[in-house]
Amino acid sequence: MKKVKLVIVGSGPAGYTAAIYSARANLEPVLFEGFFSGPAGGQLMTTTDVENYPGFPEGVTGPELMQSFRGQATRFGTVVESDDVVEVDLSQRPYTVKGKKASYQADAVIISTGATAKRLDIPGTGEGEFWQKGVTACAVCDGAMPIFRNRPLFVIGGGDSAVEEALFLTKYGSTVYLVHRRDELRASKIMADRAKKHPKVEILWDSVITKVDGDKVVSKVTIQNVKTKEENEHEAGGVFFAVGHVPNTGFLNGQVDLHDNGYISVKPGTCQTNIEGVFAAGDVQDFTYRQAITAAGTGCMAALEAERWLAEQE
Ligand code: NDP
Repeated sequence: MKKVKLVIVGSGPAGYTAAIYSARANLEPVLFEGFFSGPAGGQLMTTTDVENYPGFPEGVTGPELMQSFRGQATRFGTVVESDDVVEVDLSQRPYTVKGKKASYQADAVIISTGATAKRLDIPGTGEGEFWQKGVTACAVCDGAMPIFRNRPLFVIGGGDSAVEEALFLTKYGSTVYLVHRRDELRASKIMADRAKKHPKVEILWDSVITKVDGDKVVSKVTIQNVKTKEENEHEAGGVFFAVGHVPNTGFLNGQVDLHDNGYISVKPGTCQTNIEGVFAAGDVQDFTYRQAITAAGTGCMAALEAERWLAEQE
C-alpha cells in the first residue's frame, strides 16, 4: 500500500481548498473525489447560479466553480483518485484509507465529505415506488427530464434550497408548488421574496405531502393542511425533496467523535478532531453556516493545521 503524507477525503470546496494549500506546501496530497457516492465536486455540482461566492460579481455556475477549484488543486500536483473511500483505520499511525479501488497509508487525513440531501418517508416515495420516477432530491440534476415538462411540480421544504429548486423548476413545470410545513419560510429574505413574487410559484403554507401516487410515474399527491388536517388530492408531475442534509460520516465507523446530530465534532476554532492528525473541514463538521465560502475557509484551515502538525512530528 502506498504511503503518503496527506490524504483528503471529499471533493467539495473544502477538499479542493485543502488540496490547493497542502499541495503548495509540498505535502503531495492525494484527494479522493468520490465516484458512486455523489457527484465529484460536491453539492455545488447540483446547483445552478452561485451568486454569493466572492470574486464573481456576475455569478458563476456551481459546476464551473468546482471545475476551477479542481484545476487549481491539480495544477499544484494534487493526485486525484476517482474513487469512494469505504473504510478508514484511524487506530494507529500511519492511518489507512481504503477506497473501492485504491488504498493509501497517510500520516495525516482531512475529512471533507460534506453532506447529502435528506429524503422523507412519505408513502409512495420509496425505492420500488416512485423514487426516481417523478420523486427526486435534486431538482437541478433531474428537473429537465421530459416527465416534468408543463406539469404541476411540488417542492417540499421552506429553506434556501427549496426556494432555489422551486425557482429553477419554473423553467419546466406549469406551476411549482412549494409545500412548507409552517407559515413562514426559513429561506433568506431575498430568496423568499423571489419565490413569493414569481408568477409560477405558489406556496402551500402549513402543508405536508402525505401520499404520492401514480401509474408508471407520479401523477398525483395528497396534501394535508397541518392546522386544519384537511386533505386534498392534486394532479402532480413531480415531487422534489429539499428538506436539508445529513453529514457523510458512515465510512468513519464511529472512529471520530460526532455531535449528537451526526456532524463531526472539532475543537472550537480549529479543524482538529479527537484523533491527532485527523482534521475535518466543510459541511461534514458545519451545521451552522454550510456555505461554499465557509467550507473553502475551513479547508484552508485544515491544510494549514495538517502542515503544522506534520512538521511537529518530524
Ligand atoms: P435548511 O435546513 O435551511 O431547510 C430545510 C427545510 O426543510 C426547512 O424549511 C424545514 O422546515 C424543512 N424540513 C425539514 N424537515 C422536514 C420534514 N420532516 N418535513 C417537512 N419539512 C421539513 O436546508 P437547506 O438545504 O435549504 O439549506 C441549507 C443551508 O444552505 C442553509 O444555510 C442555506 O442558507 C444554504 N443555501 C444557500 C443557498 C443560496 O444562498 N443560494 C442555496 C441553498 C442552500 P422548517 O423551516 O419548518 O424547519
